[in-house]
Amino acid sequence: MTAPFNRPDAHGYYGSFGGAFIPEMLHRNVAELQARYLEIMQDPTFQRDVDALLRDYVGRPTPLFLAERLSAKHGTQIWLKREDLCHTGAHKINNTVGQILLAERLGLKRIIAETGAGQHGVATATVCALKGLECVVYMGEKDIERQAPNVARMRMLGATVVPATSGSKTLKDATNEAIRDWINHPVDTHYIIGSVVGPHPYPDMVARFQSVISAEIRKQLLEKTGSELPTHVVACVGGGSNAAGAFYHFLEEPEVAIVAVEAAGHGVHTDMSAATTQLGKPGILHGSMSLLMQTEDGQVIEPHSISAGLDYPGIGPMHANLYKSGRGIFLSATDDEAIASAFEVSRLEGIIPALETAHAFAALDQMTFSPDDRVVVCLSGRGDKDLATYMQFMH
Ligand SMILES: *Cc1c(COP(=O)(O)O)cnc(C)c1O
Repeated sequence: MTAPFNRPDAHGYYGSFGGAFIPEMLHRNVAELQARYLEIMQDPTFQRDVDALLRDYVGRPTPLFLAERLSAKHGTQIWLKREDLCHTGAHKINNTVGQILLAERLGLKRIIAETGAGQHGVATATVCALKGLECVVYMGEKDIERQAPNVARMRMLGATVVPATSGSKTLKDATNEAIRDWINHPVDTHYIIGSVVGPHPYPDMVARFQSVISAEIRKQLLEKTGSELPTHVVACVGGGSNAAGAFYHFLEEPEVAIVAVEAAGHGVHTDMSAATTQLGKPGILHGSMSLLMQTEDGQVIEPHSISAGLDYPGIGPMHANLYKSGRGIFLSATDDEAIASAFEVSRLEGIIPALETAHAFAALDQMTFSPDDRVVVCLSGRGDKDLATYMQFMH
């Protein structure tokens, strides 16, 4: 039997990617998480608590919507999984709800997180307010300037936003600060990582919390079409959490095409891109072995994407394995293509998508479909946060 694509082995490896590469000082924290996450997540009372919050607080299940005018354009059936309708406007809260309940079970009362665009910071600050837990969010100084509305949201929710002032003053540096904090607070603190990245067990834990997306798709597609399997599932990939959630229950179904869309920035042949599988090589970033954009001597290359949520130099180990094994099809969309798609979807469907999600829509133009195909696009988030960017393209 071959290893499943959606689950790592006991050491956290998906094929040759994953593992836990962490400083000595964090061994105890990470080992405790590794030892306990499955037992906690599989406990029926824990599952009941997660399900209750997902239903009554997040607003799940999110609809699966047949996008008729977009379908007509592509000559097929296109179904939108509406993660944009989740509380706080994106899929990220599925994970923070799960992890805050897990932290409670572990008896940890202080929460830290890193954030780039601020979306994960907002989702973390939200659940900390809900549970009355202290919340410290590390964010690059440059990102704090660029993402003022999300910084305000986090502060409104009672979180402390700490600027990361080293290096490029962006996500990578915020992550380093969060790890440093965790080392200094080994007893009372849980680190909520926002995507399927980081040391084992984070990629598996986050993928499991997000897998509710594909569990719902299966059920909803069966009700609406008589078949629980789509022909294609399409999702954008930053670190890879909305994609992991949308793919999870279809990875062992070989007839379902798995399509991951990365941000090409100005183009994969320029030095302004974030298309990790096209440009990356194996390397260690943020505690796991994966594909990573790096120089010849292993320095991390600053990525570029117009969308802050896809502006990440790596990709989760599950996705690196999907790429290497050929199970996943990896496409990319440029900044310009994403902007054009955001306007198109807004006008065809009355839904303003997040800039990240717009990359997934842009990739549809690179694919060919038959009329009977059932294409599911993970609509990871809503576009309100991106209006300032969209306004630059209105004439
Ligand atoms: C953060 C974000 C992403 C990218 O993160 P993943 O972990 O790759 O899902 C995509 N879409 C939206 C709306 C986001 O907020």
